[in-house]
Amino acid sequence: MFDYLIVGAGFAGAVLAERLAKKSNKKVLIIDKRKHIGGNAYDYYNESGILIHKYGPHIFHTNSPKVFAYLSEFTLWRPYEHKVLASVRNKLLPIPINLNTVNGLYGHNFDSAQLAAYFDQIKEPIETIRTSEDVVLSQVGRDLYETFFRGYTRKQWGMDPSELDKMVTSRIPTRIDCDDRYFTDTFQYMPLHGYTRMFENMLDHPNIHIALNTSYTEIKKYVGFKNLIFTGPVDEYFDYCYGHLPYRSLQFVHKTVDQAQFQSVAVVNYPNDQDYTRITEYKHLTGQEHAKTSITYEYPSWNGDPYYPVPKPENAALYQQYKLLTETLPNVHFVGRLGTYRYYNMDQVVAQALTLYDKLSGKKSVNEVLDPQTVKRHVPSPGVYSPNAIPAAPES
Ligand code: FAD
Ligand code: UDP
Repeated sequence: MFDYLIVGAGFAGAVLAERLAKKSNKKVLIIDKRKHIGGNAYDYYNESGILIHKYGPHIFHTNSPKVFAYLSEFTLWRPYEHKVLASVRNKLLPIPINLNTVNGLYGHNFDSAQLAAYFDQIKEPIETIRTSEDVVLSQVGRDLYETFFRGYTRKQWGMDPSELDKMVTSRIPTRIDCDDRYFTDTFQYMPLHGYTRMFENMLDHPNIHIALNTSYTEIKKYVGFKNLIFTGPVDEYFDYCYGHLPYRSLQFVHKTVDQAQFQSVAVVNYPNDQDYTRITEYKHLTGQEHAKTSITYEYPSWNGDPYYPVPKPENAALYQQYKLLTETLPNVHFVGRLGTYRYYNMDQVVAQALTLYDKLSGKKSVNEVLDPQTVKRHVPSPGVYSPNAIPAAPES
């Protein structure tokens, strides 16, 4: 008899397995229907020996000292600040929109004060910001909205930004300076030896049993467990009794090309002219040196694995119905991006899972202050480690 059956070996499941096994001495069985651990953050060395992300680019960033300190128990880190360019009107320009984006697009020579005045002139007055269209129009006006956001969002989500909750495009700031980083979080690092190594370290405990290629419906008849943690889609757990919650999917096309570099930054976005939304080149993220390079194209679709909960009011209302059902099951806990139908980044899922652990173990959640030594200890000097220095783990 297991104390916990955990469905899903992504961040949500792995954090809870690790905490319950190590800190509460619970016997845990963690399962995943996929053939690997790591959930959507899974990475592996492809046939050319290049470390790639099977489910598209995963860049770790957080403002939470607690999350950073926790994950630092399982990995060393490589400092990495993410940069993205957008391919528009035959130019490659920084996104989020900043001073260089506007000057490069229109041939202006604004400084920051002039750009702020220009935004004031072109932005559309919108009294209550409700949708993803409102967010962008109210900051940068129609031309920049149509050039950088409308087409990308229609492709990515299969609907117009005016139909999507404001939180979607609010993820992308507007800047009047030249800061071309995608994120401004305090902690911006990639796991030095990859995500999968980090997950292996998390799950390496005698109280944790792992079963891959195993779905919940299959195994629930055969194993005894006192509690269940479910990180799959919440509507699936309840047999879609209120109907399907929509999830946007992606098809990933992975390629390796016979050149050392494909593009100048890790990600190039294609808002308008292609069927794919973006191309990622992994060596920028991992720092790996290799004569070839691997890239991934992302094609959004409604078919395939559920990747993105779709933030819009009617979906939030449907999720609330399922949430009420979850509250009737005291020994079943729903967590993670699919389990709570939230467009969460990795660090938010880790934080959510740590909070659930505190609740399960009767501990009070505290916002720890990070000991500055943690960063020092876990970020080796450049050149000391490189992904090439460890033996290649082929796709499992
Ligand atoms: P998942 O990683 O989805 O894990 C859930 C697991 O449960 C899956 O492995 C699934 O196979 C398994 N499962 C589901 N149902 C069952 C079942 N019935 N039986 C058995 N197993 C089941 N976040 C960032 O912070 N930075 C990024 O740059 C970033 N980029 C992203 C890019 C893409 C293309 C996507 C899709 C997401 C990105 N994210 C990023 C978000 C990140 O992937 C998630 O926050 C995180 O992986 C969620 O972890 P999770 O454990 O909740 O879910
Ligand atoms: N977005 C856009 N153009 C861009 C980048 C982002 O329209 O060049 C919008 C789009 O709706 C996207 C959202 O902003 O889905 C959030 O972007 P983010 O890069 O955070 O998406 P993710 O990495 O989660 O796919």
